[in-house]
Amino acid sequence: MTILVVEDEEGIVSFVRRGLEDAGHRVVTASDGVDGLVMALSTDVELIVLDLGLPHLSGEEVLRRLRLRRPSVPVIVLTAKDAVSDRIANLDAGADDYMVKPFSVNELLARVRARLRTGGQDRTDALTAGDITLDLARHIAFVAGATISLSAREFDLLSVFLHHPGQVFSQTRLLDLVWGYDFDGASNVVEVYISQLRRKLGAEHIQTVRGVGYRLSDGAR
Ligand code: CA
Repeated sequence: MTILVVEDEEGIVSFVRRGLEDAGHRVVTASDGVDGLVMALSTDVELIVLDLGLPHLSGEEVLRRLRLRRPSVPVIVLTAKDAVSDRIANLDAGADDYMVKPFSVNELLARVRARLRTGGQDRTDALTAGDITLDLARHIAFVAGATISLSAREFDLLSVFLHHPGQVFSQTRLLDLVWGYDFDGASNVVEVYISQLRRKLGAEHIQTVRGVGYRLSDGAR
């Protein structure tokens, strides 16, 4: 059982590491959001303890991007923020549980045990809408049973639509979700990727809602 701890405060990392290792877990660590996301995408990692205040990429952003690829790996969020609305926002963004600092190691171990018991049961590693299926663990897309080769970005973009089948997404929202807030490339990147997806999936699968954005078409839901 490998647990990833993503936290930039060394004191907390060593405290958490000691507690988890004493309980028999293998622990790997990352001290910023970028390294944390890369390690979190590795399938060896079976549970993630994620701090929200991280350098380079915030914990919220790590969580959002992680969920596109690995919807079922359990994530326990560490937060210094005590506001109820923050907690709810974190859970909405795909955290399974949260702990407010400071916390005791026994409390953390209890949460880890609970998450490992229930982890993955309420989510699946495959998404389906109409004749499109995404195998998130193996990163493969199928349309009507045939394998479609997608780039990592195309895959992430399509998985946003499959996570929310009826929902219309504006270009700005898609940029935030798939490319991240700090993206400063070409402004038509979303349009370009939508047309690539249409070419690969069949144009009828993604509908343009004029003046608003894009969604999966009715036939694909
Ligand atoms: Ca921090």
